Amino acid sequence: MNILVLGGGFGGIVAAYTLRNTLLSEHEVTLVNQSSDFYLRAAFPTMAFEGDIRPEDIRLRLDEVLPVRGINFRKARVTAIRPERNTVETNDGELRYDYLIIAMGTDFAKDNVPGLMEYCYSLWTVDEVQRFWSRLRTFTGGSVVTGTALGSPCEGPMWEATMLMDRFARQRGMRDRVEIHHFTPKALALQPVGPAGVQWGKETFAKLGIHVHTSAEAVRVTPDRVVFRDGREIRYDIGLLVAPYIGHAVIVQAGLGDENGFVLVDSKMRTRTFPNIFAVGDCVSVPARPKMAHNAMRGGVVAATNIAYEIMGKPAYWEHRNEIMCVINNGGGKGTYVRSDVPWGGNLSIVMGAHADTPGLTAEESYFIKKAFADYFLANAGNVRFIM
Ligand SMILES: Cc1cc2nc3c(=O)[nH]c(=O)nc-3n(C[C@H](O)[C@H](O)[C@H](O)COP(=O)(O)OP(=O)(O)OC[C@H]3O[C@@H](n4cnc5c(N)ncnc54)[C@H](O)[C@@H]3O)c2cc1C
Repeated sequence: MNILVLGGGFGGIVAAYTLRNTLLSEHEVTLVNQSSDFYLRAAFPTMAFEGDIRPEDIRLRLDEVLPVRGINFRKARVTAIRPERNTVETNDGELRYDYLIIAMGTDFAKDNVPGLMEYCYSLWTVDEVQRFWSRLRTFTGGSVVTGTALGSPCEGPMWEATMLMDRFARQRGMRDRVEIHHFTPKALALQPVGPAGVQWGKETFAKLGIHVHTSAEAVRVTPDRVVFRDGREIRYDIGLLVAPYIGHAVIVQAGLGDENGFVLVDSKMRTRTFPNIFAVGDCVSVPARPKMAHNAMRGGVVAATNIAYEIMGKPAYWEHRNEIMCVINNGGGKGTYVRSDVPWGGNLSIVMGAHADTPGLTAEESYFIKKAFADYFLANAGNVRFIM
């Protein structure tokens, strides 16, 4: 059998290893990615505010680490998926598959909020992080705004950026000259984490003097202002914002996407229309957000295990349930551990660590978990069996 994995992010890498670790070597596993480099994005906010992490410290060279572990790597850009012919077209030729896992992440809907990507920083790529760090190094005071547009994938990186900005300003002795604003289109800050998250956000942001703007839907960004649907405006010197996401055009063209181009799958991560095509990670259509590496990796294990079982003649019964699980780096070796299934109708809402008067992990232990998982992932070239 020939199994093709499209996309070399968290979801694709973990799916490819799960296949390789489960199937006999007579079955080919090939990962296709447009770049040979994988960067551990969860470390981007830390890199952006602390400046001492080099890109190569958080990079995996996919063309080196995958082949030595029995996975073929193709550096190529996917240009079309042909489900009815079991083929994928790339800028480097056509590839055939028996099973396909789509793990291509997403695109930004650049035009939904005019000016957002032009005037603000996003922290979404290594280049963006470095551009931001160059600006921050010379920052001596003013207004900083962090936030997410409606339809953006995940607010977590902006909660982290808000905390790290506060710490950066205090460390440099300029907190009294820096105004920090955080906005969300939701009715409450940290709403996805449920009641415990909302309480943590309220207490922490108030204590640190961070201005929080809720139900704030950004509609336009000018060189010095974020403009909201209800007429509010925030003036800024540095804007750190996340744009809305949309699915890739190739997914829409293949007839695999919902109205926004996200792949429709069932709980086994199998597409509704083609039994030999699965999808995992940010490219998947989900009833609620956030989209996270945590779910991309867990979904990757589920899709790959189901494919492997099917090939081995066993029932494919593994299922994936979304949940929030991450640690917000608050700087200084402290973190806040958050876990929730509230966005998907559950009532799990856990916050442990800094500024939360709750039992459980300390702030230092929470940070340790984040750092330890990053080190574990990189040291094992992404071949991880434990998923944070
Ligand atoms: C700053 C930041 C911090 C974050 N922190 C956390 C965190 O602490 N915890 C957490 O759980 N999540 C975090 N996230 C979210 C997390 O990074 C994403 O949810 C995760 O990367 C999704 O993984 P994925 O494999 O689905 O997609 P991606 O990581 O986006 O990977 C998709 C891959 O497909 C490739 N690709 C796309 N199109 C093509 C094409 N046409 N041809 C070939 N290749 C293609 C891309 O180049 C990419 O390598 C963070 C995100 C950001 C931006």
